[in-house]
Amino acid sequence: MTSIKGVGPRIGASIERAAGAHIADLFWHLPTGLLDRRYAPELRDAEPGRIATLTVRVDAHRPPPAANRRIPYRINCSDETGDIVLVFFHARGDYLEKTLPVGEQRVVSGAVEIFDGILQMTHPDIIAPVAERDQVMQVHPTYPLSEGLSQNVMRRTVAETLERVPELPEWLDPALVAQRGWPRWHEAIARVHAPADFSDLDPNESARQRLAYDELLASQLAIGLVRANTRKRPGLPTVGDGNLRAKAIAALPFELTGSQKRATDDIIADMASDTRMLRLLQGDVGSGKTVVALLAMLNAIEVGRQAALMAPTEILAQQHFATIAPLAEAIGVSAVLLTGRDKGKARQKILDGLAAGDISIAVGTHALFQQDIAFDDLAVAVVDEQHRFGVHQRLLLADKGAAVDVLLMTATPIPRTLMLAFYGDLDESQLTEKPAGRLPIDTRTIPLARLDEVVSAVGRKLAEGAKVFWVCPLVEESENLDLAAATARHAALTEAFGARVGLVHGQLPARDKDAVMERFIGTAAEGPPVDLLVATTVIEVGVDVPDATVMVIEHAERFGLAQLHQLRGRIGRSAKPSTCLLLYGDEPGETARSRLTILRETDDGFRIAEEDLRLRGAGDLLGTRQSGLPEFRLASLENHSELLAVARDDMKLIIDRDPTLDAERGEALRILLYLFERDAAVRLARAG
Ligand code: ADP
Ligand code: MG
Repeated sequence: MTSIKGVGPRIGASIERAAGAHIADLFWHLPTGLLDRRYAPELRDAEPGRIATLTVRVDAHRPPPAANRRIPYRINCSDETGDIVLVFFHARGDYLEKTLPVGEQRVVSGAVEIFDGILQMTHPDIIAPVAERDQVMQVHPTYPLSEGLSQNVMRRTVAETLERVPELPEWLDPALVAQRGWPRWHEAIARVHAPADFSDLDPNESARQRLAYDELLASQLAIGLVRANTRKRPGLPTVGDGNLRAKAIAALPFELTGSQKRATDDIIADMASDTRMLRLLQGDVGSGKTVVALLAMLNAIEVGRQAALMAPTEILAQQHFATIAPLAEAIGVSAVLLTGRDKGKARQKILDGLAAGDISIAVGTHALFQQDIAFDDLAVAVVDEQHRFGVHQRLLLADKGAAVDVLLMTATPIPRTLMLAFYGDLDESQLTEKPAGRLPIDTRTIPLARLDEVVSAVGRKLAEGAKVFWVCPLVEESENLDLAAATARHAALTEAFGARVGLVHGQLPARDKDAVMERFIGTAAEGPPVDLLVATTVIEVGVDVPDATVMVIEHAERFGLAQLHQLRGRIGRSAKPSTCLLLYGDEPGETARSRLTILRETDDGFRIAEEDLRLRGAGDLLGTRQSGLPEFRLASLENHSELLAVARDDMKLIIDRDPTLDAERGEALRILLYLFERDAAVRLARAG
């Protein structure tokens, strides 16, 4: 980002948080609103409450008395028809004297208001020389931001980037483009960033629609190439003798459920065949996927090969490892955990073990498919919460072995039709039964105004020996506010309940996070036990604390349905009855209310997934991000599902005719894949 003019490291980091790490990400960072600066009245006519662009003469500066920083810096301005005061809090006088010199004319744009009968503008959004009046008097797009960014900076950065947008060869089918009346790509990019009207923000406005189609096609093509490649390279049949599996099953403190057995059989059959496995294991939170994954891995180890399990977060990787390690040890199989935290010698030792084949099972995060990691003979790769990884990342892992069988796992059930569209034809197993002995969770919705009662109820539960999760709201676009809310809640609850209250959040160093988690789980060597854990959504996936029976979710209305379901899945994992309290703030919207109702009514992940899809509105970003579908930047299911079907057919034709992407359109399509960071797919096409 810092290669863009005017962008230093700090702003660059903020932009990356808002838009993504690559310059191209800014192309897809679309405006979500407009600021109309075309209203340019004379001062006499300026209507308070509107955004206005005013041409004024600077008459006098009125700095605050040096002693009082609370009084703002005021600047009197006027035109032929009236006066206005520009107001600046915590202003730097020398800066204002330079930008608004007395006696000169300037254009200022911002919200005008009346204060004490006087027209004023507080912190104009724009101050410009009169010569730039026409540029100011336009409709300006507004962008989603992150902390440390202003609209002006974001807009300038995007504009700067757009200047570099090259004209690229058309990768779409000309007939389709003509039929839909779509602009060419570079024109579409320019148009979506220069909306003139609210109708231009419509996801199906033609420029936006074209870009959405580009994205859908890129994703379909990446999937299609992976599939074509998978079919082309035969798998190695892996047929273990079942001895490790039998030992592991004997060591389990429970019986496998019927669906765990069926899923395991499916997987073992896939691995035995000479085509490569690509199977999705769907099962609600707590349905017991890890054990199934372990059995698949043991099948490979029985024939002397290796297995890897990759999870999207460290906590989740640790949790899998915690399930797997004791079993592995009991049956004499070597397993390691590898995350970004392993550095230097420790990491090297693991790498050596993997390369030599001394280590049979590697559990880890993205760290597992770094370039320098080589397996002696990787047979099966399990990818948990696969939607969190891009297609290309999954590919990288599959590339670590000769003919790696891939098992994808998800706790967020994806409706069948969508799955087909997104993953092509992959096989699927479902864990539909909950392990025996689980009780339904008593879920209630309560207004935040009744927080006191909730705290007393939690106190009673603690007195009975319960372990309680207290989840603090996710504040959109601001990790810091997020943290502040959780810290404040932690302080308040500590006041009520003392040292038994712990806090975990995303910014806590991993070691501290673990320490608190261990105190909560009850495995900590030091520190008082924690039985009330205040957490931000870091606990969303993973975290298995079977004896936790109470969960409080603050501002539940701000979470997506699937995410709430995930969170709630952290409790109700034992034979003890569990309670989930969903606290909502003032007047949740209609959609938010429906979400909470559904959650109260059902614990069926499949039904929740369907409802989630039905309810997700365009503005509901949280829900979209958490819905368990691959992340699209432009395309969305509610708006573009028809295009998805078209893209799918388009992809099939392309792969039939030009599987190596060498024809003229193929060359252009490679550029499309690069733009959407599906580079790995391009490599596959080349390799073909
Ligand atoms: P998932 O990954 O599907 O959310 P896990 O694999 O983490 O679920 O399993 C959740 C918990 O249930 C773990 O503590 C696991 O040991 C336990 N478990 C798994 N299968 C069974 C079973 N058949 N009966 C009882 N408990 C089980
Ligand atoms: Mg799990």
